[in-house]
Amino acid sequence: MEEPNNFKKYLDSKKRIVIKIGTQVLLNKEGKPSLAAFKNICDFSSALIGQKKEVILVSSGAVAAGKDLLDINPGLNNFSIPQKQAFAACGQPLLMDNYDSCFKRLGIKTAQILLTKEDISVRKRFTNARNTIYELLKNNVVPIINENDTVSYEEIKFSDNDHLSALVLNLVCADLLIILSNVNGVFDKNPNLYKDAKPVKIIGDIKNYVKNFKENTKSLHGTGGMKSKLYASFIASSAGIDTLIMSGKDKKSLNALITGNLKGTLVSSSIDKINKKKHWLLFGMEKAGEIVADEGALKAITYQNKSLLASGIVKIKGDFKKGDGIYIVNEKGIVFSKGIANLDSEDIKKIKGLSSGEIKSKFGKEKISSLVVHKDKMAVSV
Ligand code: GLU
Repeated sequence: MEEPNNFKKYLDSKKRIVIKIGTQVLLNKEGKPSLAAFKNICDFSSALIGQKKEVILVSSGAVAAGKDLLDINPGLNNFSIPQKQAFAACGQPLLMDNYDSCFKRLGIKTAQILLTKEDISVRKRFTNARNTIYELLKNNVVPIINENDTVSYEEIKFSDNDHLSALVLNLVCADLLIILSNVNGVFDKNPNLYKDAKPVKIIGDIKNYVKNFKENTKSLHGTGGMKSKLYASFIASSAGIDTLIMSGKDKKSLNALITGNLKGTLVSSSIDKINKKKHWLLFGMEKAGEIVADEGALKAITYQNKSLLASGIVKIKGDFKKGDGIYIVNEKGIVFSKGIANLDSEDIKKIKGLSSGEIKSKFGKEKISSLVVHKDKMAVSV
């Protein structure tokens, strides 16, 4: 895999860019929000906008800004979830205030968008959020996205903004993800521990790279760690979108990119790109239940692009309705596919294992379809 020989031309072709900014990028040495850092990010974004690109920011930093404001002692244990949520509630307006004042200086308007997991996983909310963002972009406003930490209990504990930024790509139909962190891209070893660590300029096979990547660099790379950035790049690559991982602290790297030079890592998207709807099914959709299918059905789904019919169903787990997201698994629980149920779980329970003819003769009057998940509403995940 080679870096595009004309990187400037390559960048010119990218028109809608999601820029993910990590907390560390926005803090000074004392761990407090640094206005100079915000200014760097806004200058960088403005320069890209000047090159006729649209820019969407996904910014962390609310919890850190709130922590700086509130004087809460964590005690022996770490900060509690409500304490972190209080930090986010106090810090988010400060975060926006910093962005807004720096962007205003450059004549650019901003908008705040706070998303929860459901805004991505529930298709209707996804579409609403998308339409709003499109309207903002049409009006030359820079959307600044963060998780709605105050109401997302799970999010604040488990998720991170690297993951969110990868899901936002599909939401806004972007063509490039830039992850700004406090290190200059990916290295073959921890550069803090090994003097001979070499920067990795380009990653082609991201799926295997993530699998084999050792997480011992975590402390070096802040909250999400490099693995979570690589995983975000993997999600991006499945949608055919490249990721640049670079420093957002180093002004030289930011300026270099504007002039068409990359000081960081390019994760090149896979050739097996999937369409946007399937991408959402695999990475965005929420699971309401599971269907255990037999080997024949799993083969037909995986290798022959077939729909899932009642005859191949062994068991149903959970209660769900037609239109809900479900996982199709084998008897060991391995997920083969994800899709949208065509029937309520109650109906599937009645017809599992039956052929269309058997369903017709048994439930003729009820008119239950033998189609459980249509092939166009399903994405293979193995
Ligand atoms: N949403 C969190 C914040 O604004 C950050 C989460 C993350 O960086 O992954 O502080």
